Amino acid sequence: MVDIKQNVSLQPFNSLAIPSVATHFVELTQERELPEIIAYSQARQLALRVLGGGSNLVLADRVEACVVRNTLLGRTLVEEDLDTVTIEVAAGETWHDLVAWSIAQGWSGLENLALIPGTVGAAPVQNIGAYGVEVADRLVSVRAFDLQREEVSNLSNVECLFEYRNSLFKSDENRYLICSIRLKLHKSFSPMLHYGPLQALKTNIDLRAQDVFDRVVAIRQAKLPNPDRIPNAGSFFKNPMVTGAVFQRLQLQFPDLVFFRAGSGYKIAAGWLIDKAGLRGQSGAGGVGCYSKQALVLINPQRSSSRDVVAWSDRVRHRVEQLFDLTLEVEPRIWT
Ligand SMILES: Cc1cc2nc3c(=O)[nH]c(=O)nc-3n(C[C@H](O)[C@H](O)[C@H](O)COP(=O)(O)OP(=O)(O)OC[C@H]3O[C@@H](n4cnc5c(N)ncnc54)[C@H](O)[C@@H]3O)c2cc1C
Repeated sequence: MVDIKQNVSLQPFNSLAIPSVATHFVELTQERELPEIIAYSQARQLALRVLGGGSNLVLADRVEACVVRNTLLGRTLVEEDLDTVTIEVAAGETWHDLVAWSIAQGWSGLENLALIPGTVGAAPVQNIGAYGVEVADRLVSVRAFDLQREEVSNLSNVECLFEYRNSLFKSDENRYLICSIRLKLHKSFSPMLHYGPLQALKTNIDLRAQDVFDRVVAIRQAKLPNPDRIPNAGSFFKNPMVTGAVFQRLQLQFPDLVFFRAGSGYKIAAGWLIDKAGLRGQSGAGGVGCYSKQALVLINPQRSSSRDVVAWSDRVRHRVEQLFDLTLEVEPRIWT
């Protein structure tokens, strides 16, 4: 029998350290426990919410739901040829440990995604990305439990509808519980170094995946606050995507605008917009504010409630809208 607890504090399970209580809480350690958890929730008309590492969440004071903390573990080599390996990894594994382990096996492809907090199962949800690589670039398929149809689905990469920080799992939120993912990695190394701070590595002719991993870890440690010391959820806003016409208007007005080309449009650096709006290092009620070294990271040093977090986020969005006529979209999921 699974152990479903009531009134459990979620503060230790979210990287913003928001004080929050789940009315019902269970740790999922085996897939076969799922039918019992679903039956329990249905009998009480409770929504089911999947929790990974809590590093991309803003939690209400009280979450009226059955919160399922995914702790499914396991890594398996499922296919191998001369150049590639395909691995299946259970959703509760820690993402960064998977990246480090894959490189130690001599497999490359995940090194640019080092040190992203959270679990493997959450990686496809917002199609995690960093330094020019997204998980969608390496993902073969997702094995998920469809909570609506109450059956296991195997979704191909195309079926996951991946976009910039988006996927089927984010747009159809709370429908799927991801159990495992398959990734295809390479035995020989072809580095992805086009993203700014990694370009310096291009001169290294003996470059290994481990070197890129080490550099990514060093850059991230220098730039991002460790949530254990300064609670945060990483980048709080998505970089807004704009058309050529909007981009030209902005560039005329702000010649120092920071942007990236993205398909036929442009991605504007949200951190630059917030910085330019004078909000870097500033804070509001409950001490919630924008991190002094990276304005895009919203910090919660006093472990305040979601009300203070949302109030500061609204203030940032309002200022950016006033100044640039651009709308910032919040990246983390908000559980009310
Ligand atoms: C310091 C810091 C740096 C970060 N840097 C980056 C970065 O560079 N790039 C980036 O993309 N993100 C970044 N993030 C955001 C975050 O790490 C990722 O979004 C991560 O994938 C979230 O994983 P998690 O397990 O903590 O998910 P959670 O926060 O627990 O959950 C996030 C969402 O995914 C859903 N979910 C979780 N597990 C499952 C599952 N098994 N099945 C179905 N749904 C599930 C949840 O219901 C929720 O909607 C950063 C966060 C922090 C704190």
